[in-house]
Amino acid sequence: MYPFTLERPRDVSEATRLGSADSAAYIAGGTDMMQLLTDEILHPDHLVALDGLLDARIEVTPDQALRLGGAARMSDIADDPDVAAVFPVIAEALLLSASGQVRNMATIGGNLLQRTRCPYFRDPGVHACNKRRPGAGCAAMDGANRTLAVLGTSPHCIATNASDVAVALVAVGAQVHVRGPGGDRVIALEDLYRLPGDTPQIETVLEPGELITAVVVPPSPAARNSTYLKVRDRTSFEFALTSAAVGLDIADGVIRSAGVAMGGVGTKPWRMPLVEEALIGRPAGEETYRDAARYATEGAVTREGNRLKPELMKRTLVRALSVVGGRA
Ligand SMILES: Cc1cc2nc3c(=O)[nH]c(=O)nc-3n(C[C@H](O)[C@H](O)[C@H](O)COP(=O)(O)OP(=O)(O)OC[C@H]3O[C@@H](n4cnc5c(N)ncnc54)[C@H](O)[C@@H]3O)c2cc1C
Ligand code: SF4
Repeated sequence: MYPFTLERPRDVSEATRLGSADSAAYIAGGTDMMQLLTDEILHPDHLVALDGLLDARIEVTPDQALRLGGAARMSDIADDPDVAAVFPVIAEALLLSASGQVRNMATIGGNLLQRTRCPYFRDPGVHACNKRRPGAGCAAMDGANRTLAVLGTSPHCIATNASDVAVALVAVGAQVHVRGPGGDRVIALEDLYRLPGDTPQIETVLEPGELITAVVVPPSPAARNSTYLKVRDRTSFEFALTSAAVGLDIADGVIRSAGVAMGGVGTKPWRMPLVEEALIGRPAGEETYRDAARYATEGAVTREGNRLKPELMKRTLVRALSVVGGRA
């Protein structure tokens, strides 16, 4: 591990000041950051500890919106009965993430900003990774890319965003509240993440020192009837090959509103507005789900190893839609 100073700010203002310094990084639960430091993938000069500084409350408001403090633990959110009742897709995505031990340590802010699981990004012995070394090339393009992205890719990077709960939160229209040295702002979670383009090392729109203070989800009838389906190589402790976060508001057998996003397939959590449009106004049922799922792969670009993904995406989506369609 490279040497660094550990900074323990007294409050959030001091944290954002310290965090905006050159070569500073935040650490929350540490479940991703410690691994990246130990493997010498990251080498910040200053590590700014967030523990004890950020709100960890979980609140479903009377109008059925959800507010998560930036330090809320994954396990506490997943176990919250109100979250499970009003936003089942969020609770399910968390329960299908990592392990009980990791979830007990990990925060929602850290989860949304965890780094990709591209095997070449995580291997310090590999030189050709544009995300770690801009301009060095991309070993994944013609390498082991079975788990990597087919949507939002560029000739410079095809790394998949690894977060499960980000997919669920994008499907229900979550926003992140951010604080930095310049003040507070609110960003749609979908817009927090940048596509790789020719600068895959810049992953979010956050400015230096900005940190996530809260995640807020608006009320929505589709969220109440929602689910998260994760397809992976092992049934636990594994990242998604494909996943689907879906919510349907169905009345008299007709779909009135829909929220759909997919994971394991995009360089960011991928909302699917064309699928949503194809569902709304149609009768709930397998024919509708199959028709709509055709739009999920629009724009997909595959490589040798991940050619299975477009078909798997459609099947994952139809299965997830059938689950919530069958509940209504
Ligand atoms: C074995 C294993 C299996 C896993 N499996 C899954 C899985 O299946 N699905 C899944 O979704 N995840 C999985 N994960 C990832 C895990 O969910 C993340 O490691 C965890 O959520 C990170 O949260 P943390 O609080 O520990 O963040 P840290 O490790 O402390 O930080 C992670 C990143 O977020 C930044 N950060 C932290 N908090 C903030 C904040 N409030 N504002 C701004 N920046 C911040 C840090 O600077 C760092 O870049 C797995 C992890 C492990 C170790
Ligand atoms: S896909 Fe991205 S993270 Fe993976 S090796 Fe290529 S540039 Fe690096």
